[in-house]
Amino acid sequence: MSKPYADREVWFLTGSQTLYGEQTLRQVAEQSQAIAALLDDAPGMPVRIVWKPVLKQTEEIHAAALGANADDRVLGVIAWMHTFSPAKMWIRGLDALRKPMLHLHTQANVELPWATIDMDFMNLNQAAHGDREFGYMATRLGVPRRTVVGHASNPDVQRKVATWSRAAAGLAATRSLRLARFGDNMRYVGVTEGDKTEAELRFGVAVNTWGVNDLVAAVADVSEAAVDTLVAEYQDTYEVAGPLRAGGERHDALRYGARQELALLGLLEQLGAWAFTTTFEDLGGLRQLPGLAVQRLMAKGYGFGAEGDWKTAILVRAAKVMGAGLPGGASLMEDYTYHLVPGEEKILGAHMLEICPSLTTAKPSLEIHPLGIGGREDPVRLVFDTDPGPGVVVAMSDMRDRFRLTANVVDVVGQDAPLPRLPVARAVWKPRPDFATSAEAWLMAGAAHHTVLTTQVGIEAFVDFAEMAGTELLVIDEDTTPRAFARELRWNQAYYRLAEGL
Ligand code: MN
Repeated sequence: MSKPYADREVWFLTGSQTLYGEQTLRQVAEQSQAIAALLDDAPGMPVRIVWKPVLKQTEEIHAAALGANADDRVLGVIAWMHTFSPAKMWIRGLDALRKPMLHLHTQANVELPWATIDMDFMNLNQAAHGDREFGYMATRLGVPRRTVVGHASNPDVQRKVATWSRAAAGLAATRSLRLARFGDNMRYVGVTEGDKTEAELRFGVAVNTWGVNDLVAAVADVSEAAVDTLVAEYQDTYEVAGPLRAGGERHDALRYGARQELALLGLLEQLGAWAFTTTFEDLGGLRQLPGLAVQRLMAKGYGFGAEGDWKTAILVRAAKVMGAGLPGGASLMEDYTYHLVPGEEKILGAHMLEICPSLTTAKPSLEIHPLGIGGREDPVRLVFDTDPGPGVVVAMSDMRDRFRLTANVVDVVGQDAPLPRLPVARAVWKPRPDFATSAEAWLMAGAAHHTVLTTQVGIEAFVDFAEMAGTELLVIDEDTTPRAFARELRWNQAYYRLAEGL
């Protein structure tokens, strides 16, 4: 499989010192190259793992950190102390490092060579205490990091490094993200509000607003020929409902949907924006609330939030990048309604229109139905069922002094029966550990009704992402109990205020 982040790198940094002499340092270099190659060649490693010359003193370490910071290709660094690398040499480098770090606690050999081991071997292979020295300094300096333990040939170790790399790619994407809002947030809604200035500091996202009339003008500028081409693509890709087909009485509505898609795509490309929001309360001269257009842009990797929800748009974009190349998909989702039969509780998630077709491997159907909100013409939209399988829903709330991510591990289970009268794409899932605990914890956390649902990456990627971004993350999974969760909320309240300083 080709690497989804083939143009990006994770630097493999090996710590040592000059004390050991040339011959040992040569062995350190050879063996650390072999470890880096093992990771680089591991199945599913999404990024190039690039070995860097062994670091032996303060200045080299500092220069490596500055080099990683300055190079946009670098998603993060892996650090491993093959030998003993006195950690005061790492103070300046660790203090300067602004890229995510993974501390790999490994060693060159798998088996202890019982029959042949001597002091030379012991002096060469001492990560067991070299990494402890490093861990002390990283902890003392408060360096956010993921620590992974085990031999680099171990599939579990490789999987953890790969997941962390995906989280680092997600963070790199938010750090360079421009988000275009067409219109403001839905009036009077609380949870979609937030501090856009703080979001740029925390996640690196530039959140700015454009008038919906910019979009209206772009829609008018789309050529008929471009619409023809896109409509032909729709007819090849989806089950197009009869009235929408060429010659059908609603075909014009489909052409308008294509026009919206091309206009949005052109405008976002022009702005360099990989995420956007719309709102049904501010459609200006748009004839339809964009449904199909938004669904298809999400499928191309754009982040999206409805009703001006830019925070969820960030999460959708991050999830898209983290899941690149993996089966499944990621989409805006909204908890809509419940199946409350005892023992069978499930959540039906959907939205007015805007669910990403990456969530299905089936052929979506392209339909037109009235929308009882927004007061415009009937919008075109893709309708489908989300594929069953494991997933995660993640929400972002602004808690005044910080952003809080809340994540729930879920199992998309599919529906008990067909939904012939429901004219929108949807997902049906069982939340872990169970419906009542999940919803109780979610409500106590003040987590939002909008989420990203991803079936591409698991909870671990979001744990790594939150650590890198320095953001609170509450996890609701098989280990959650309401009482422990309530305590975590109380403790976090104090912790994040203290950690923020004055
Ligand atoms: Mn909504």
